[in-house]
Formats: sequence, structure tokens, C-alpha cells
Amino acid sequence: MQLIWEEFLKIIKEEAGSQIVETWFKAVSLDEWDATANAVTLRVPNQFVSRWIQDHYTDLLKTHLARLLHAPILKLNFVCSAQQTPTRTRNIIPASVLTSMNGENEAPFKPQPNTPLPVNRSSTAIVPSKQEDVVVSDKKTRERNNNINPLYQFDNFVVGPSNSLAHAAAYAICENLGKVYNPLFIYGGTGLGKTHLLHAIGNEARKRSPQLIIRYETSDAFVNEFINSIRFDRSHQFRNRYQKVDLILFDDIQFLSNKEQTQEAFFHIFNVLYEQQKQIVLSSDTFPKEIAGLQSRLKSRMEWGLVADIHIPDIETKIAILKKKADLHTIALSDEVAEFIASRVVSNIRELEGSLIRVSAFAALTNQEITVEAAKKVLLNLSEPRRDGFFLDTILKITAKHFDASVNDIRSKKRHQDIAVVRQVAFYMMKKMSHSSLQAIGNYIGGRDHSTVIHAIGRVESMLDSDQSLVQKIKVIEQEILSS
Ligand code: ADP
Ligand code: MG
Repeated sequence: MQLIWEEFLKIIKEEAGSQIVETWFKAVSLDEWDATANAVTLRVPNQFVSRWIQDHYTDLLKTHLARLLHAPILKLNFVCSAQQTPTRTRNIIPASVLTSMNGENEAPFKPQPNTPLPVNRSSTAIVPSKQEDVVVSDKKTRERNNNINPLYQFDNFVVGPSNSLAHAAAYAICENLGKVYNPLFIYGGTGLGKTHLLHAIGNEARKRSPQLIIRYETSDAFVNEFINSIRFDRSHQFRNRYQKVDLILFDDIQFLSNKEQTQEAFFHIFNVLYEQQKQIVLSSDTFPKEIAGLQSRLKSRMEWGLVADIHIPDIETKIAILKKKADLHTIALSDEVAEFIASRVVSNIRELEGSLIRVSAFAALTNQEITVEAAKKVLLNLSEPRRDGFFLDTILKITAKHFDASVNDIRSKKRHQDIAVVRQVAFYMMKKMSHSSLQAIGNYIGGRDHSTVIHAIGRVESMLDSDQSLVQKIKVIEQEILSS
């Protein structure tokens, strides 16, 4: 049984990437195989994991386990292990949290693939008068609310398939600080919402328990503060300041790279806070293991809790974000213009926001309405990287069209042979025609890691050796992309 499960994990690692295995499958075991009923029983650590796996990976499980067990059709049963102790908690999200995330009585939190999830809690815009209660008056309160930006809230964070896990986990920890995922590690490319989520956690936690000591810090600032504390012989006060917090939000941890002494200090602070079950939230641009120049004992600690990624949003999520931002800034934005901007700016929400502001400023200055034409003029001179991102979009759409497949299917986790081949060809075309890195290409197609992309490209190359019709088809696709 164990061997079969290990074999299965290897396949999933190749298909879906090692992060998926680490996050979802490592804590699962294959408990039983009933050959007469064709049913396998999987043991999962809790309901949340069970539901997530069923929603996202049922096809994958059925296909591969059936093959490995030589069974025609498989039935999957899930049983939950007993709850774990609060320390070293990997996966416990209380049902109450799931309920409140959904705003319904039934617990299931079910992200809808490819449709932006509505934000269910009251979605009032953050207007200046609301900020008054955040303005700090006395020293103690100031200390408690250190550096939290009141503008970054859960209410104005748009949730879609690219960030739903990070968002769900971020919201869940606010209900039960230090008890569910500790640490929570959020990673993703720049401008994809990590800082926003960290502040949202700070704001939400403070709303629930105003007496908490919360601290947001970028690792850059932490390094400077640490150096100064040594210079002025104040390392004791420095440590104390951090060790007494209830919630630490530590942004861009990758900047601790190669700062041995600062890492040492951070390691001790981490241990003290962790032992007291104080909530630690970290962000980075990559997965802990891949942060260069970071002590391995720190890397492994960062994986103790939950590692959640944010990847590039799909077009629907980008449009939803644009509309939310337009509402916030009271900009009248038509669907066509939103779609146009969303398709031009591919990989960075900060740029998406910047483009919206530029387009609306241009329209205001020239006294025009915001039309697609006006937006085209303003965004015409977007720099190369954006063009490249835009290009990935074009490659994906044209490839999908020639295979009669849907872009959403290609981006999804679907494993049907037909879709898998189109996905592999899309990877191949992107590598061949764009300047994007393998990781960026993998991210673009459903958050897959670069080893999956390499594997896919290898497959296409070997198919091209023997399949002349595929060679022809790829030529046609290439022509169409070049003339688009
Ligand atoms: P990161 O820290 O990952 O580089 P930020 O959190 O600074 O990115 O996000 C960049 C900008 O994009 C911010 O203005 C943020 O509010 C906005 N943003 C990112 N993700 C979302 C989202 N899902 N919904 C709304 N705004 C978002
Ligand atoms: Mg940031």
C-alpha cells in the first residue's frame, strides 16, 4: 500500500509540481484497497484538506490510482484523522471559519475554478472617515498597531483561483491566531498581493482583538533595525520588541538572504514566538526551499505550517480587480475597457492598477470618456516584459483554438489525455516563441513548476520526431501567432 502511494506521489509531483504534493498530499495516506468493491480509502488530516483534494484532485487520484492498482474504475472514500495538537499544526481550519468565509450555514468552502469568488463579507470601500478609528493616539496603541496599513483589507482583496488558497488560509488564521497554520508562508511573484494579504491579516486580527500586539515588518527594515541595535548596543531591546508580539507579519523574507547574523536573530525570535503559539506570517517571492542564502534550519521551520502560493491571476480575476479598484477611485470603467486593460497587463496587479490610473488620468486631462481607443493610446508604449506577458496570452489562445480546446481546461488540473497534449504543446510554443522563463510559463498555465514545463517540452519534442501532422500543425500555429 505504502509503495503504491509513494509511486502515486512521484507521478503527482511530475504532473502537478512538488508544492502541490507538499501542501496537499504529504499528510495523506492510502489506508485500504478493497479489490472487490474497487474502492480505496484515503486518510486525510482534516475536513479542509479532504474537501480541497476532492474538489481539485479527484480526477488525478482516480486516473493514477486505478492504473497503479490495475482497477478499471475506482471509488474514493475519505476518512479524517483525529485532530492534531495545536503546535505543529499543518492543516486545521475550524468549521466555523469555513462557515464565516462562506457566509452561509453550510461549511464547505469551495473555490470555483476560473470564476472570481465574490467577497462575501460587507464590501464597503475603505474611505477616509473609516480610518479614524485606526488613527493611534497613545504610545501603547501605536505599538500595538505597528505599521499596519488600514487600506489593505480582506474586503477589498478580490479572490480568484490564483489566490484562493492564500486568502482562505490568511482569513482562517485570524479566527484562531497561532492555532491553525503556524507559520503561514505566502509566496508569489511581485505585485500579486502578498503585502496586501499580510496587512489584511493585521487589520482583521486587530478588529477582532484590539488588545493584541501586532507588528508588520519588511525584512529589509528588520535588517536595518538589527544592524542599528548592534551599533548602539541595544540588541536586548531589539529582541524584546519582537518577542512580545502576538502576531508578526514578516514581509519579503527573501531579503534576509546571506545576512547570517540577522538570520540568527530572526531564528531566535521565531523560536520564542512559535513556542508561545504566537502567530507568525511570512511572505517571500519563492518557495522556502528555493530562497538562496537562507539557513536550512530557517527554511525547514518555514514549512512547518502551511505554504500557500499566489500565482498570476486569470483574466476574470484581473477584470474583477480592475472593477474593484475603479469603484474605490470612483472611476467609470466599461466592461470593454476593463477587459482590454486586463489583457494587456498580464503578470502584475500593481501594474494593472497603474494602467487603470494612467488611463483614467489621461481621459480626465483630455476631457474624454474612457474608451478602448483612449486606453490603447495610453498603454501603447508598455514596455517589453508586458508585451511578453501579453504574448503568452496570445500563444495560449491560438494554440487552444487549433486544438479545439478551452483555455480554462488547459490551465486546469484536468488530466484527460487530449487536454494534457494540448497543454504540453502550449508549453512548447511558449518556450519557443517568448522570452519568458520556464517558471513564468509554468505559473502562467495553472501554477505549474518549471520541471513540469521541461517534462512537457521533452514530450512534444519526441512526438515531433514521429508525428508529421503535429509538425505541420505547430507551423500553422506559429504563423498565426506571429501575425497576430
Ligand atoms: P506583492 O506584495 O505581492 O508584491 P502587493 O500586495 O503590494 O503585491 O499588491 C500590489 C497591488 O495590487 C496593491 O495595490 C494591492 O492592493 C493590489 N492587489 C493585489 N492583489 C489584489 C487582489 N486580489 N485584489 C485587489 N487588489 C489586489
Ligand atoms: Mg510586497
